[in-house]
Amino acid sequence: MTSPLVTLQQVSQIYRSGQRLFPAVQAVNLTVNDGEFVALLGPSGCGKSTLLRIITGLQRPTEGTVYYRGIPLHGVNPHATIVFQTFALFPWLTVQQNVEVALKARGVPASLRRVRAVELLDRVGLDGFETAYPRELSGGMRQKVGFARAMAVEPELLCLDEPFSALDILSAEALRGELLELWTGGHIPTKAILLVTHNIEEAVLLADRIVVMDKAPGRVIAELTVPLSQPRQRKDPAFLQVVDRVYATLAGQTQPEHLELGTAPGEPGRTRALPHIFINDLSGFLEYLDETAQARIDIYRLATDLHVDSDQLLRLTEAAELLGFATIAQGDISLTPLGETFAEASVLARKEIFATRIRRLPLFQWLLAMLQAADKHRLQWDVVQTALELEFPPEEAHRQLETAVNWGRYAEVLAYDDKSETLYLEVQEGTSDSSAR
Ligand code: ADP
Ligand code: MG
Repeated sequence: MTSPLVTLQQVSQIYRSGQRLFPAVQAVNLTVNDGEFVALLGPSGCGKSTLLRIITGLQRPTEGTVYYRGIPLHGVNPHATIVFQTFALFPWLTVQQNVEVALKARGVPASLRRVRAVELLDRVGLDGFETAYPRELSGGMRQKVGFARAMAVEPELLCLDEPFSALDILSAEALRGELLELWTGGHIPTKAILLVTHNIEEAVLLADRIVVMDKAPGRVIAELTVPLSQPRQRKDPAFLQVVDRVYATLAGQTQPEHLELGTAPGEPGRTRALPHIFINDLSGFLEYLDETAQARIDIYRLATDLHVDSDQLLRLTEAAELLGFATIAQGDISLTPLGETFAEASVLARKEIFATRIRRLPLFQWLLAMLQAADKHRLQWDVVQTALELEFPPEEAHRQLETAVNWGRYAEVLAYDDKSETLYLEVQEGTSDSSAR
């Protein structure tokens, strides 16, 4: 069966923040067919949750149309439901009552609710816990209640927004398996599942088709079918080959420098956002690459070797690339001579290399120029953040500044006083010019 259940046509979402408009999602075309398990995969902030809200009708897109079974959707889609990452259970209700609430909302008569709730809890393996309160349950069990509640409305389209990402590794893996069992075994009336995730391996493990998104602006950059039957094995070479392909798509290719670096905030062109990583993690990452002494390494292998998730791994590869420590092509990463030098350098030499590298970034040049021009070379955090909000949404502007301060302090190109919340340039004693070292 390949009849489309839900179709997005040229869907865009613009958010307003003060005077600025942020394109969160741009011109997305997407179809989920009857019988399909689709994963929407992309880094955080690329607009996945936004798309889910649009698909389920909780939010109207700025532009474009949502079709459900070929009919334009207006208002909330009664055939779709979302399971969220945070379990969103009522803490004052028992497990069973939490499910009954959903049944009530769906208009199931009181006399039938109890039996149905017990049945649903049974199906997700929670029999015996009907009278427990959410606080008595582990994260994995709470999410099972979340699933049971979602099943209560018998959705045709089950949307899952990172439902495993708040769970510990073992509970997450167990619950993935149980979801697959419900789905492939036909134990639920669901016609299609749309899973939102930033976890590459998870997408390849579960989905028939993966829609890959990237951010700034949020958009679809690729789609691939997963030609593997269920159940899948994470160590199977065919599985790893698909994972490799997805990394190749998301890690991109090293671009010419002017494209790679972007422009300063407020200037025409896009300001390249700093990947949020700590220098310690980046150093460890570069050391690892250096020690393996291979010219090129498959990025996907590093997730297992370094015990990091794909989101963090992609931030590390992006930072290494942005700073000129590595190049990326076809899902492989190679250290540059500079990256090797950094990995093998002393702590002090590393700081110096790092300082020269971040001084090349337009965002740092802009920040340092502002500090140079400021009274006593000091600026309040809020002032800088407001300036950054010309380029980024407020939350992201805050995180950008956090990362910039973290990098800048490490490189000793700027300082920060937490008490007064000010950024400043360190004026060296005995010199009249802060550029003297
Ligand atoms: P994801 O789920 O992929 O992490 P989201 O859909 O939550 O992405 O967010 C995409 C972008 O839109 C982010 O930059 C986020 O800060 C912004 N955003 C999300 N919701 C709103 C909102 N209601 N108002 C303003 N900006 C928003
Ligand atoms: Mg989200």
